[in-house]
Amino acid sequence: MPLPYLLGIVAGATIFLGFPIVAWSGTGPKLRGFFNAVSTGILLFILVEIVEKVIDPIEDLFAAHAGGFNKLPDALFYSGTFLGGLAIGLLGMALFEKFFLDRNAASGNSQAPGPTHIALMIASGIGLHNLTEGLAIAQSYGWGDRELAWTLAIGFALHNATEGFGIAAPLDKARRRDWKLLFGLGLLGGGPTLVGAVLGSFWQSHFFNTLSMALAAGAILYVVGELIHIGRNLKGHMVVEAGLITGFTVAFLTEMFIAWAS
Ligand SMILES: [Zn+2]
Repeated sequence: MPLPYLLGIVAGATIFLGFPIVAWSGTGPKLRGFFNAVSTGILLFILVEIVEKVIDPIEDLFAAHAGGFNKLPDALFYSGTFLGGLAIGLLGMALFEKFFLDRNAASGNSQAPGPTHIALMIASGIGLHNLTEGLAIAQSYGWGDRELAWTLAIGFALHNATEGFGIAAPLDKARRRDWKLLFGLGLLGGGPTLVGAVLGSFWQSHFFNTLSMALAAGAILYVVGELIHIGRNLKGHMVVEAGLITGFTVAFLTEMFIAWAS
């Protein structure tokens, strides 16, 4: 099996780790707030990492143009690709949520969407965002940046471990132990990471690389916004700050370990 596929599986499969925690220890606001914040900390680190990798070459193009090389068309093209991809990733997630969640909440008049329905929608939104994670992993690997591919795969794996928690949290007690349902939800949320890794392995171009990274960054930005919103509602400020620092530190140490190991 090609390594990017394996990295995609590792990054996506950890989504299943959250289910047993929800089934046996429940989802108290403190625990939830902490996990949310850890996830946010990891995502913020990955966001910085991805954006840096995309922006640096674009800056070099502008600098080269200033130095007398005719690089302005390239510089403008990749700037547009980056900003366009970022907007599509961010707005795509927002539109998906608005179209599916709000419509379902509004259309049923007094009938609010059931717990399974909410879990299903959360899982598909997460799946959409995880698709872009797989793309980013495969693209950085295919581009020869193995260190980044590993950093992304492990970072995403750690962050996705908290996603299962978010998916299963709205379920009622009986459904939290319905393993068949949980397996389906996990596949819907985590499976797209592998799909993205496979798709991302097909094309290798600067354009597709920039676009993949920008889409992932946009989707991450959206999720970070959502997680911060949830964190605010759960209050427990110190718990949230502790989680943020934990997540960011874990992601940082992971990257340093990978740099050291390679
Ligand atoms: Zn994710």
